[in-house]
Amino acid sequence: MIRIALQSKGRLNEKSLELLAEAGISIDGSGRKLLSQASNFPVEVLYLRDDDIPQTVSCGIADIGIVGYNEVMERGYPVEVLQHLEFGKCRLSIAIPKYLEYTGPEFFEGRKIATSYPGILKTWFREKNINCEIREIAGSVEISPSIGLADGIFDIVSSGGTLVQNGLTEVEKVMDSDAVLIGNSTLDDEKMRIVRTLMSRFTSVLRSRGKKYMLVNVPNDRIEDALKIIPSMKSPTLLPLADKGWSAIHAVIDESDVWEKADALKKIGAEDILILSMEKLIL
Ligand code: ATP
Ligand code: MG
Repeated sequence: MIRIALQSKGRLNEKSLELLAEAGISIDGSGRKLLSQASNFPVEVLYLRDDDIPQTVSCGIADIGIVGYNEVMERGYPVEVLQHLEFGKCRLSIAIPKYLEYTGPEFFEGRKIATSYPGILKTWFREKNINCEIREIAGSVEISPSIGLADGIFDIVSSGGTLVQNGLTEVEKVMDSDAVLIGNSTLDDEKMRIVRTLMSRFTSVLRSRGKKYMLVNVPNDRIEDALKIIPSMKSPTLLPLADKGWSAIHAVIDESDVWEKADALKKIGAEDILILSMEKLIL
């Protein structure tokens, strides 16, 4: 049995549970209890504030956890980053009021920045040899310059809309972040085996996201051209049709390429293009 720490509520909660569900793990009473067991996999879920997940995993109260990479970096506890999970994407950036002229990192020499991520920012300024006063605040960081608390802010940015609303301009991106699976660094063999199974299921789920399954009928003399249009993961499946002179090609393609590939295939005489959703991609 392993214990996984998940955010109890907030931006990563739903996506983390969704990932477990897609990996075939059913959790009873998700989110209502502090601790819930899976009915069909040797894992129990511990629901926590995201701030507490790195420490909980580092000291072994949970074996693994899902948390923003930014929290892992900020807390600085020794944990293994096992897998990037491709959701919760954002960046951590420095922004200043838009009427100020930015001259580079030296701009901040002797100035003040408000943030909820003092650790990451301190390291960034230390590497650049700049003395900037860091004011740690828990929330509403974006209003700090307008109330005179700081000259700039350091915070999570995704679309940048909040910055614009507050008259701020992003001037430095300090790091990119996404949700990561972290692990305690001293897991025994039995726990490691369970963690590996879980990771390979996560890999399958992540691989199938954004993919479609394409079936297309192609005249035999155009198969070579068709294969140039749809390069597949290994080799596409080629099946003869009852109608001699025609074959069906099956391939996995990126969802974003569907229309471009379908148009190109039609141009070389392909017919009956069928696009299906991909449930799982287990390699
Ligand atoms: P908790 O109550 O668990 O402490 P929180 O308020 O600290 O939650 P959330 O706002 O739920 O945290 O964000 C959790 C994580 O989601 C962030 O640490 C970050 O990794 C990620 N994230 C992705 N996009 C955004 C965004 N636009 N704003 C804030 N966080 C984001
Ligand atoms: Mg938090």
